[in-house]
Amino acid sequence: MPGYKRVSTILDLASAGVLMLLLAAMKQPLHRVLIYAWNPAVLISFALSGHFDSLAIVTFLGALLFLVTNRPALSMAALALSFLSKFFPVLLLLTFLKRVRLAHLGLFAFLAISLYLPFSGAGLHLLDGARNYAGDWINNASSFHVLRFVARSRVGAGVIAGIILLAATGYLAKRQAALLYTSLVLTGGVLLVSPTAYPWYFTWSIPFLCFCPSAAWLLMSVTSVLAYTPAITFGAGEPLKNSLLMLSLEYGPVYLWLAYYCWAARGTELSPTPQQAVKYSIPMKANIDLDVGRKTFASGLLPELIAALRRSRPGDLVAIVGSEKSIGAELETWCRFTGNPLLEATVENGLSRWVFRCGAVPMAAENDRPVGSRLWLYTNFDCNLHCDYCCVRSSPTAPRRELGLARVQRIAREAAGLGVKEIFVTGGEPFLLEDIAEILAACAAAAPTTVLTNGMLFTGRRLESLRAVPRDRIVLQISLDSATPKLHDLHRGPGTWARTREGILRARALGFRVRLAATVSTDTEGGEFRQFLDEERVAAKDRVIRRIALRGSAREGVALSRADLAPEVTITAEGVYWHPVGAEDTDLLVTRDIFPLVESFAAVRRAFDHEGEHANKLARIFNCA
Ligand code: SF4
Repeated sequence: MPGYKRVSTILDLASAGVLMLLLAAMKQPLHRVLIYAWNPAVLISFALSGHFDSLAIVTFLGALLFLVTNRPALSMAALALSFLSKFFPVLLLLTFLKRVRLAHLGLFAFLAISLYLPFSGAGLHLLDGARNYAGDWINNASSFHVLRFVARSRVGAGVIAGIILLAATGYLAKRQAALLYTSLVLTGGVLLVSPTAYPWYFTWSIPFLCFCPSAAWLLMSVTSVLAYTPAITFGAGEPLKNSLLMLSLEYGPVYLWLAYYCWAARGTELSPTPQQAVKYSIPMKANIDLDVGRKTFASGLLPELIAALRRSRPGDLVAIVGSEKSIGAELETWCRFTGNPLLEATVENGLSRWVFRCGAVPMAAENDRPVGSRLWLYTNFDCNLHCDYCCVRSSPTAPRRELGLARVQRIAREAAGLGVKEIFVTGGEPFLLEDIAEILAACAAAAPTTVLTNGMLFTGRRLESLRAVPRDRIVLQISLDSATPKLHDLHRGPGTWARTREGILRARALGFRVRLAATVSTDTEGGEFRQFLDEERVAAKDRVIRRIALRGSAREGVALSRADLAPEVTITAEGVYWHPVGAEDTDLLVTRDIFPLVESFAAVRRAFDHEGEHANKLARIFNCA
């Protein structure tokens, strides 16, 4: 194997390695790396042909990995290296900039310019390659032919293609599409409007299929191999040109599939994050599965339910699969009547599936808190961590869905007259926001405020934000899951326990009241943490210990339905929710309209009264704070 192919292959293997690290950081199955590693376009482009796109890909994946693991300077440095090897990563610059500070753009520009400097003697000839590419080259194009026909010139077609790309970038940014989904759409989409789409260019988007497995884009990575046919026919003495038949076979099915995908996805949320995609494709796991066939309550279903209850322990989940959709309403009534809350109803392959939990959730029964006395604000949703049980799927790659200072100020003004006794501010991680001090000051002016944080960002600019936070009406609730790093780091990532401990000490040294909040899997873990708090002499009012809720990213935990939760008005950028523990789940959405606040509070109370007619005796407080 010639040396350049060896280098290209080594870089390709490194890409697979970085991809696995990225999958691990995103808590995705590692075997998905095979989507990239076994892809024919990748094998042909690098091991067989030795193209240097592998350098751009490995550095680009490095940039993503650093971004996901909250190392923005390294991320921008890797992005600059990727850009120096191929221009395509510049498409993602805007997406990166939304997640790093402007100063990091300076680092990108500095590296890009300084590594060009040694070649500055070439003057404008440095751009000859790009000029020729834009002016002359045309190979394996698809939509570009249509654009040229419409614009009646190559330059006009190029301008339209540029506008399409800019519009797509802006649209994805506006819809806050997930980082890896944006990477997939832009690196794949640019080839659909480009005048030149050599087959090895199709490798750019393949790594992102590991996170967003889309059949249409996957198909494109396979049919792109047909782009080699002109080279093959040229070898047989034919002229070097693309045939209409091969172009149709290569692109036709892809365009059709993409069109179908857009049609099927209309009106739905754009680009679920990888975690969301997984959540909605996996039904809730049950301890007991009952296949009841065509049985109804009139034909033998009830004895089966009673037998299942006898076999189960309190808290177990029972799934019922049957072909009679009509039993749903009766089953819901039976669940309410017997105090076994119905948690989920889905339909798959023509069969209905219901999941109910045996018995009420064992939680503190503090049912005397009036609806609306507690107000929760989700300020942003993105987070520097990616905890495996996060109830709202926050992570470094979760799109920022910001409530914004102006809205928080209005909420605080209106809340003051609505009987709100406590405000809780949560993120994702609220200290990622530059204006968090102003947000907290606005809340504290309305009611005593607690801010939930992982306590890991109290350095540099963010330490200054913390210093600016008023101490008198604000409590910091810092998440610490265990007395030693073992459990905490298991759920939250290596090294997080130590950094959180530093944050706690720093916050206390600055004069803040700190409440420690642990999220645990079992009563034993809770007991151990309680013992630790006793040893640390933490006052009872500064402790929260709660079980993992089976919501968001969690794969196990306490399954909670609306009937289990006494409402605590929760406001996010998307609307008003029943409770903070499911503040992006549609079953807990009360209204999309936040203002006027008096109306949204009334909507929550109305919903509570309505449900209370049936089963408010089942509601329990699930303490998040
Ligand atoms: S649990 Fe908290 S710290 Fe962890 S990802 Fe969610 S918001 Fe971030």
